[in-house]
Amino acid sequence: MISYKGTVFSEGIAMGKLHLISQMHAFNLPSVKSTELEKLKEGLRITIAELKEFLLKNKENQDYLNFQILLLQDPVLLDEAEVYLNQGDSAIHSITKVLEAHQLQLKESSSFYLQQRVVDFSDIEQRIVRNITGNPYLTLNEKFILYAEDLLPSYLIQNKENVLGVITRTGGDSTHGAILCRQLNIPYIVASIQAKEGETVVLDTRKQQIMLNPNTKTMLHYGKIIQELSEGTYVSIAHPEYKFLANVSSNLELDKVLKYGFDGVGLYRTEMIFMNVNHPLSLEEQFEIYKEAIEKMKEKPICFRTFDIGDDKQLSYVQASKKGLENYIKNQDLFVTQIKALLMANQYNSLKIMFPMISNLEEYLYLKDWVYAIQAEIKNKSKFELGIMLETSSALESIQDFKDVDFVSIGTNDLVLDIYHIHRNLQAKEMKSYLNDLLTKLKEVVIFCKEHQIELSICGELAAITTALKKFMKIGFKNFSVAAPAIKVLNKIYKEIVA
Ligand code: PEP
Ligand code: MG
Repeated sequence: MISYKGTVFSEGIAMGKLHLISQMHAFNLPSVKSTELEKLKEGLRITIAELKEFLLKNKENQDYLNFQILLLQDPVLLDEAEVYLNQGDSAIHSITKVLEAHQLQLKESSSFYLQQRVVDFSDIEQRIVRNITGNPYLTLNEKFILYAEDLLPSYLIQNKENVLGVITRTGGDSTHGAILCRQLNIPYIVASIQAKEGETVVLDTRKQQIMLNPNTKTMLHYGKIIQELSEGTYVSIAHPEYKFLANVSSNLELDKVLKYGFDGVGLYRTEMIFMNVNHPLSLEEQFEIYKEAIEKMKEKPICFRTFDIGDDKQLSYVQASKKGLENYIKNQDLFVTQIKALLMANQYNSLKIMFPMISNLEEYLYLKDWVYAIQAEIKNKSKFELGIMLETSSALESIQDFKDVDFVSIGTNDLVLDIYHIHRNLQAKEMKSYLNDLLTKLKEVVIFCKEHQIELSICGELAAITTALKKFMKIGFKNFSVAAPAIKVLNKIYKEIVA
């Protein structure tokens, strides 16, 4: 078995055979203009017809498909291609040159959003090229995990029933492909792997991992998890006295969070917003993002974690070797801007601000005073809660000091690493070696929070793993924050343990 690490754009777990999709490249054979023009028109006609057929069956994707159809029907496209046809280029070469010029313009745009639209043009280009050469994209009749250079949205729409998961070499969080995968609960990871058609792969986005040719034990293990996940519904069951919260990395996930009936957002990883751009986001830019998120959540609580940069998460414009308070002291402008934008966006008083990697009370108090000073400076009157992520062993050892916090959320990913030196990728597999000890330690936190009426939750990955979740419920945890698809795990264990 070979393991690869990648960047996750849509959460989930999948296992299946790989289907490689290669790109067709334009070639320029000697050609006669009139026949090439006919070929091009025919290619456009077939492509439009295909997209219209997808449109009939995929109303939910009408915006994307209509945009593609309109673009293909635009007479300017043909006019532009004719310039090249007149110069002796083939049909394929002409249309490719036109569409690639559009892609280049988008690539060079300073807007990150427009940069991520490049693949939409590549989608059209690949489909036309295939149709002109008589190699159309066939509809899959078996279930596969796709591996391609880019995720072409129309291909995904065409095959959505048979796509178990997606791996691409390049991609972005707000490409239409990534958005579609999140809509359809198809796990999607960007990574470069060395693999052949038909090889078996497992995608596990909790570990940001791709396992190529897994051994039987791993396959059995994942088969069981996938079976469990396939049962039940994505809508939360009634869960009085408990809170089912969501972990998100962008506003794009919030529709799903609401659709699945989550009670709010328990962890918004704001650094992921920063990672999407190559410059520090301005106050206005951040304000717009947080405002949209808060409005979308319709007054449900939303807990933003201040940017958690350092260690494995690095940014060109942030100085942070290690995660933690030092981050904010070294990058004061960034911290101040983020807090200002969050407070300004807090129109329903539904805001929670959570500090990651807190080691002791002094650190929390330092940040708390800072936040209130920022609020006074901008004369903001909104109400919000302040809390900590409990994810360092020193904070755990000194939990009795934190009487002053509004809430505590356990970050098991970093906590288990800190206490037991087990990397997050191995925490599910090696759970037996530390879970009971961890539960003993966390029980103290449950008692402490209950005594001081501090809201307590778990937002690390262990909250979405059945064995661990059961035990957390049994020792008194009532609030859990998980990636949206894991609502099924919460439902299942809640039914078993509480209902
Ligand atoms: C954690 O450490 O458990 C956590 C939820 O934070 P992250 O995974 O973003 O480090
Ligand atoms: Mg963490």
